[in-house]
Parts: sequence; structure tokens; C-alpha cells
Amino acid sequence: MATFPNAKCEYCGIELKGVINDYGNTWVCRDCKIENDIHRTNLSILHAVAGDKVIVTDETVENGYSCDSQQVKELIDIGYEYTVKSINIGRSSSRLVLEEFPNKTFNAVNFIRCENQ
Ligand SMILES: [Zn+2]
Repeated sequence: MATFPNAKCEYCGIELKGVINDYGNTWVCRDCKIENDIHRTNLSILHAVAGDKVIVTDETVENGYSCDSQQVKELIDIGYEYTVKSINIGRSSSRLVLEEFPNKTFNAVNFIRCENQ
């Protein structure tokens, strides 16, 4: 499996473990995101890094394309915590890999980060 350099925060320069940035030249960490408020909320899945706990809720399971939603319904337990292995930030959608399913990718819109991490 190919390895990619971790993305770095454009503001503070911190290395974002497990984050692959296909979005463009810049990305921000969750702390800089809070200060600058440019990418949704700080609990957005898009600011997850490797090791973060994420869950699927009754609402988020319906997000995204039907094939993505179907895959989540087949493999993921609602409300159960899973661990982020990597996230690939894309322009139109972002793909998430979980430690529990290292050979599968999920649409990030089906997940939210757990609080207090
Ligand atoms: Zn930062």
C-alpha cells in the first residue's frame, strides 16, 4: 500500500496524522479551524486525524450516496465508536478508513467525530 505524507496545518504547521489532502494546497487543524471558522464545526469529520473516535448516528447514516449509506448500514453499528486510520480529503467528497475495516473506505459524511477529543 502506498504511503503519503501527512497533511500539515496551513496556520500552525502541525502535522495531521493520517490525513491525506487531495483538496488543494491548504488544510487546517481543528484548533486553527475554531479560531478562523472556515470549515464547518470543529466536530466535523473533516478535522479528524488518525486515532480519533467517530460514530454514525441515525441521521448521518442516511447521508451521501445510497451505495455509501448501504455500506455503512451493512458494516457499522449506529452509535458504536470506531477509530480513524486515515482520511482522504477530496474536493467533492472525502473518504475515511477505519482501523476496524482497514481495507474499506467510507464516505466521511456518514460519520461524525466524538466529542471531547
Ligand atoms: Zn493549526
